[in-house]
Amino acid sequence: MLKKDSNIFEKINKYLTKKGHEMCLSIYLKDYNSNNIYIRFDYVSKLSVYKIVWVDLNFLDEKHLEDYISMQMVTKFLSLKIVEKMTEKEYENSYSYNDEIIGDRVEILSYFQNIHEYIFDRFLPLELDFLIDPLAMIFSYLPRSMEVFLNEIFAKFDHQEDKYNYLKPIKFDLFKDDLNKLFDYNLRQAGEKDFQNDKVSFLEKIDNRYVAIVDGKTVSLVIIELIDDEHILMWCNCKCDTYCKHICSVIKAIRNKKFNNFYKVSYTGQEKSLLDKVTVGNFYLCFGVDGDKILLITSQGTIFPAHIMHKNKCVFEVIEDDDDCSLSKYLKELSE
Ligand SMILES: [Zn+2]
Repeated sequence: MLKKDSNIFEKINKYLTKKGHEMCLSIYLKDYNSNNIYIRFDYVSKLSVYKIVWVDLNFLDEKHLEDYISMQMVTKFLSLKIVEKMTEKEYENSYSYNDEIIGDRVEILSYFQNIHEYIFDRFLPLELDFLIDPLAMIFSYLPRSMEVFLNEIFAKFDHQEDKYNYLKPIKFDLFKDDLNKLFDYNLRQAGEKDFQNDKVSFLEKIDNRYVAIVDGKTVSLVIIELIDDEHILMWCNCKCDTYCKHICSVIKAIRNKKFNNFYKVSYTGQEKSLLDKVTVGNFYLCFGVDGDKILLITSQGTIFPAHIMHKNKCVFEVIEDDDDCSLSKYLKELSE
């Protein structure tokens, strides 16, 4: 989140006004995928041209604005197209807030004729379709890396919302909310089946995260993170680009309190660099072995198989084992 919010816009405006800019349209991507980007479509009367101006507010030194404000002249043809689109009709102000969304706000201010505001969260509402062309034309002047924002903003028009909502916090009560909200009938059935067949082989709450392993043809790692009292972030490493049956089965397991702690191991070898990224405090989460490798989970949420032996020595020590001490026994056998 941006702290300096309010007066930075005044400063930028002052700077641009001095340069002869008149603001016609501004687009503020506020905490959008953690970015804060301010974009303007300005008229420079002494040159009789329109310019696109953009500033990445996350990387801005207020004392050297000139080094951080980028601008680009717009062709006459495109300028006229943008002006034409924005003035063909007087569109009413529009505020589409969505309390299910954290961040990802877009604030568009239009200074053509009267001042108008169009504010929405994450996706351009269908009724604001008149903004598609102006936004696309303006973004065509921005660095290519900003295309990702535009694709996401337009997702409602391509029916791609699920793709973008996945991997972001959603408003969902992990214990009470209806699973229909996230999973269709088939996914719910498949998730239920996996849960009933004890496919959720590991499930543990560590700090504000539930970490789980779901067995199947391949092993799936599911992480459910509690963002605040109302929002959670859910993620699975399988190929689905949306909420999958593995996540569904893990929610079932959480609701039924079917916990099964991970093994915890520590690394006793010398070459730590490879393993540094796997650490959760002083230990590693582990869900078993595969031949001469131990299966660890990285703090970024990936599965990391590591060699158990190094120069004929076992380089892992078991901190927490299951009741049968099976991991300790396995490591011992391997070392002998
Ligand atoms: Zn999955």
